[in-house]
Amino acid sequence: MADHIRGTLLPHGEVRDVFVVDGRIAFSTDEPVRSLLDGCYLIPGLVDAHAHLGLRSPAGDDAPAGAAARASAEAHLRAGVLLIREPGSPDPGSAGLGPHEGLPRTITAGRFLAPPGGFVPSLALRVEADELAEAAAREVASGVRWVKVVGDFPTPGGQPRANYPPRALATAAARVHLLGARIAIHATLPQVIEAAIDAGFDSIEHGVMIRREHVQAMAAAGVAWVPTLVAHEALLKMHRALGASEEGLAPLREAVNRLPDLVREAAGAGVTVLAGTDAGMAPHGLIREEIRRLRRAGLEPDRALGAASWAARSWLGLPGIEEGAPADLVAYRRNPLEHLDALAEPALIMLDGRIVLLALPDAEPTRPAPPT
Ligand SMILES: [Zn+2]
Repeated sequence: MADHIRGTLLPHGEVRDVFVVDGRIAFSTDEPVRSLLDGCYLIPGLVDAHAHLGLRSPAGDDAPAGAAARASAEAHLRAGVLLIREPGSPDPGSAGLGPHEGLPRTITAGRFLAPPGGFVPSLALRVEADELAEAAAREVASGVRWVKVVGDFPTPGGQPRANYPPRALATAAARVHLLGARIAIHATLPQVIEAAIDAGFDSIEHGVMIRREHVQAMAAAGVAWVPTLVAHEALLKMHRALGASEEGLAPLREAVNRLPDLVREAAGAGVTVLAGTDAGMAPHGLIREEIRRLRRAGLEPDRALGAASWAARSWLGLPGIEEGAPADLVAYRRNPLEHLDALAEPALIMLDGRIVLLALPDAEPTRPAPPT
C-alpha cells in the first residue's frame, strides 16, 4: 500500500501526485494507494543547521546524554524539523540518532574544540593551537562528518578574544578536508571570520561582527553562513554574565543591529545563508522564528524558507522531494511562501516514509506511536 499526497511542491510550485512506496518518494505507482492529503503545499521538511541537542534539553540537566539529545530532537521534530546539524556537542549523546528511532536525521560534529579558557569549560575538549589539526582528525576518526572549532570566546571581562592563530585554523581545515569531512567555526570577531575564510572553513557560525568585505570573500570561496539571528539576545546576555559592561558591549550590540542588513547582502551576493537557532543556548524547536527573522532581514520568501529546508538539505548532502528520495515531507494547508505563519500548522509530518503527524480537518491530529 502506497501513501498518496497531492499538492504543490515548493519552491517551484508544480502540482504533483506524490506517492510513498517503501519509505521512498515516487511520482507514479502500480500499488494500491491510501490518500492522505490533497491541495496542500509540500516541502522536504525543515532543517535546523545549528542546534546542540545535549544542551538545555527538555529532559533536564540530569538526564543521561543519549536521553537528553533524544528529548531535544523530539522538540525539533514537533516543529517540523526533519534534519539537524549539530555543530559541536559536549558528549557523544546524539551519535547514531535518526529516523530508525523516529527522530530527525542528525549530522553531528562531535565535540567542541577550544583551547583552555576558550569556551564554557565543561563543554569543550581542550585543545591547544599546535594540537588542533590532530584533535580535528581524531574527531573525524570517531565517525563524524563535521568538525567544530570555537574560534573566539569572551574573556572573563566579557570581551571576545581569538582562540587560535590563523595558521592553526588553516592546518586544521586542510587536515579535515583531506579526510573527506567538513569544518565549521564559531566566530564573532572580524579577524577570526577573515582567518576562517582564508583557511577554507566550510561554514561560519554566528559571524556577528562580519564585515561587508567578508561577505564578498565568502561568496567567492563558497563559505556558508549560519547567522543564528534568534540567538543574539542570549549571546549578549552571556557576555554580560561574563562581566562585560554595557559600554564594553557597544561594538557587539551595534554589530547585532547591523547584522540583518549583512545577511540580506550575503544572500544577494550568493552566499549560502542557512537557518540555525543555536538551540542548546536557546530553547529547542525555534526554527520558525529564525525563518521569520531571515525574512525580516529582507530575504525573499523562497530564500528564507529554503535556508531552513531544501537549500539546507542540499548543502548537507540530502535530496529534496524527488523520485527515489527518502520520504521526508512536511505539508501545509496554506502556502508558507505567502503566509509564514502557516509553518505553525503542519497538516502532515512524515519522516522517512513514516507518519509523525497527520492533522485532518475537523479532527484531532493523529500521532502514531514511535517505532519500538
Ligand atoms: Zn552553537
